[in-house]
Amino acid sequence: MSTRTDRLGGRGVTLDTGVARIIDAEEQHLAHNYHPLPVVVSHGEGAWVTDAEGKRYLDLLSAYSALNFGHRHPALIAAARDQLDRLTLTSRAFHSDRLGAFAGALARLCGKDLVLPMNTGAEAVETGIKVARAWGYRVKGIARDRAEVIVANGNFHGRTTTIVGFSDDPLAHDDFGPYAPGFVSVPFGDASAIEAAITPDTAAVLIEPIQGEAGVIIPPEGYLRAVREICTRSNVLMIADEIQSGLGRVGETFACDREGVVPDVYLLGKALGGGILPLSAVVADRDVLGVIRPGEHGSTFGGNPLAAAVGERVVEMLSSGEFQQRAAALGEHLAGRLGELIGHGVTAVRIAGLWAGIDIDPSAGTGRDVAERLLARGVLVKDTHGHTIRIAPPLVVRATELDWAVEQLGLVLEG
Ligand SMILES: *Cc1c(COP(=O)(O)O)cnc(C)c1O
Repeated sequence: MSTRTDRLGGRGVTLDTGVARIIDAEEQHLAHNYHPLPVVVSHGEGAWVTDAEGKRYLDLLSAYSALNFGHRHPALIAAARDQLDRLTLTSRAFHSDRLGAFAGALARLCGKDLVLPMNTGAEAVETGIKVARAWGYRVKGIARDRAEVIVANGNFHGRTTTIVGFSDDPLAHDDFGPYAPGFVSVPFGDASAIEAAITPDTAAVLIEPIQGEAGVIIPPEGYLRAVREICTRSNVLMIADEIQSGLGRVGETFACDREGVVPDVYLLGKALGGGILPLSAVVADRDVLGVIRPGEHGSTFGGNPLAAAVGERVVEMLSSGEFQQRAAALGEHLAGRLGELIGHGVTAVRIAGLWAGIDIDPSAGTGRDVAERLLARGVLVKDTHGHTIRIAPPLVVRATELDWAVEQLGLVLEG
């Protein structure tokens, strides 16, 4: 079997030519907006994937937490299959017999009145911003085109032109201007900075309760409660982007639950689509989401019957609390195991439920180096911001599988 060294993978990652050909085909005709690890996945089941040559890998990324229930969870596949045989798309020009049940189930899970379904996470964020502005003008009485939204430094809310305008990551932001006005960014984790930034024109505070892309940055205890209290007192909407942190990941349904906080608006996505299709949503009470009137907002695919069928099953699976409990118990276990690596190639671990940011000692290599070495040992992770690796295992993973993966990480860090 002839081999070659992958150009992009670097560091002597050797690939079978069949796999190399598949990767080459991508390089030829795919825009280079990603830098994937040199693995070609062709099958997935539960927490495991298999590559084009039959080698198995434990997936500790879960598509950035979109695969909370693992690959091809039988209950979700069954819901999708049933629906594929009946109806897939109507557009919102007509009613479908699936959408109402999904919206009701999701609203109940969130303890809110109304749901506005979209597709991608970025669309949910965009929708949340539109809702906040309309609420600001129509309910709060802000003068037209003056509404401001307060965001946090280090945020990640998606890739649209409006959203990247208030990112402080140069890779996400630079050369994509001119940027939309109306956003004010303050340090994450500092509620007094939010309070100081509020003006009579502030419509909303938009934050991730835990910043995922930034490296699983957990704010100080009490931050979310303080933000809630400030927003209530100032008549400002609290919008929680729970697209990555929500739906069981942190051992609760929402990361806001960790502080007993209920935001005015939940933004959901990723795992809401069961790892099968894109499904996002804005969820809020009638006095907020009710400001949107027919014709003012929409999406051709938003709330389509196939997505609604899968989303309803996702909500049903979360309603028992079983996955949240698994995430909490496994997360505690994982925290103990990762803690043993501090001082042995790891400088810090931040963990919430089954979601961890692991800072790698620069002398042990970059995050990318560690991800490539783990790949060779059958473990999939993703680096972020240089020396951090982020793991978000499927909530169906076993404790023994996590133990094995941490062992591999320990070996990789020994060099
Ligand atoms: C992934 C993510 C988004 C964007 O979701 P897409 O589906 O990629 O558009 C927004 N906010 C947060 C917190 C995310 O993690």
